[in-house]
Amino acid sequence: MRILRLLTIAVVIQIWTGAVIYAHGQVMAEDMLIRTPTVVAAITELHSHTHLGGMDKTEWSVVVRADGTPSKPYSSHDWASNHLTVRIGSDLAIIHSHPDGTAPYPSQSDQNAAKQCHIPNYEISAYHIYVAEPDGKTVRKVADIEQGKHNTINIKWGAK
Ligand SMILES: [Zn+2]
Repeated sequence: MRILRLLTIAVVIQIWTGAVIYAHGQVMAEDMLIRTPTVVAAITELHSHTHLGGMDKTEWSVVVRADGTPSKPYSSHDWASNHLTVRIGSDLAIIHSHPDGTAPYPSQSDQNAAKQCHIPNYEISAYHIYVAEPDGKTVRKVADIEQGKHNTINIKWGAK
């Protein structure tokens, strides 16, 4: 009886571990398009506008094009609004910065933009990356960011 019980517990733990690995794998697959070297370079540039020596405190944005490359980082230099052209049905993701002093997670309008464009809308802040999913309601933490030396950043993907 005792042996049977131990076996049951072992099996349950194994299944649970498998579920965690599966969920982790799902998260990584979904964020793959922003983990390429060119997009990470764009994220690093957006991040440079979020804190410390950031030159201005407005939102900067890029879109990830159909071929996986990021557009040129752009800012309207306006606290109240940031205009971004998205090719709906073609562009794969929106990535934009949230400057110091603003919330790191998506705003309601960030969630609306994800839904309108049918693509994920990523928020780069000083210490985190969040995403507003295209369903218009799901918000997920994608990564933590550590400031490295010489204007580099260390992105810890899948950080909880
Ligand atoms: Zn935003």
